Amino acid sequence: MAENIRLEVVTPEKSVVSVSTQIVMAPGSLGEFGVLSGHTPFLTTLKTGSLKYKDENGTERYVFVSSGFAEALPDRVTVLAESAERRKDIDIERAKAALERAERRLQEQNREADIDFTRAKAALLRAISRIQLAEMR
Ligand code: ATP
Repeated sequence: MAENIRLEVVTPEKSVVSVSTQIVMAPGSLGEFGVLSGHTPFLTTLKTGSLKYKDENGTERYVFVSSGFAEALPDRVTVLAESAERRKDIDIERAKAALERAERRLQEQNREADIDFTRAKAALLRAISRIQLAEMR
């Protein structure tokens, strides 16, 4: 059987995941990537989206990640993200409120500076990603 790798997902506030797993799939900026034990080392930025790993029973677990980096080494994957939470910890009502707020801001974009448009778009993406992940079956 293949060796396990260590997966650590951390934000500036907390450690979100610290597990031993067979496989990690993550949303890299250039596309989704998978890491198994023995992978060639690499470093990448992440897209807002969901990271997936298998727990000790082989059950797939999902983690929301946003604005991060991932470092893959032969025996570990480390994700540093601005925000991250396990699927079960996503507050869907909060995400829906964030989505509404972001949509409202985007409608007002002409009167706002570009930076606000970029921020609102990023917030919209986070909210959509959280809602999709929380509602996934
Ligand atoms: P909001 O406007 O609701 O704060 P946001 O997208 O701006 O949403 P982030 O900056 O991504 O929030 O995250 C700030 C902190 O709040 C992080 O610790 C993140 O894990 C947590 N968080 C944000 N939204 C949710 C949510 N819907 N469910 C659970 N935790 C959340």
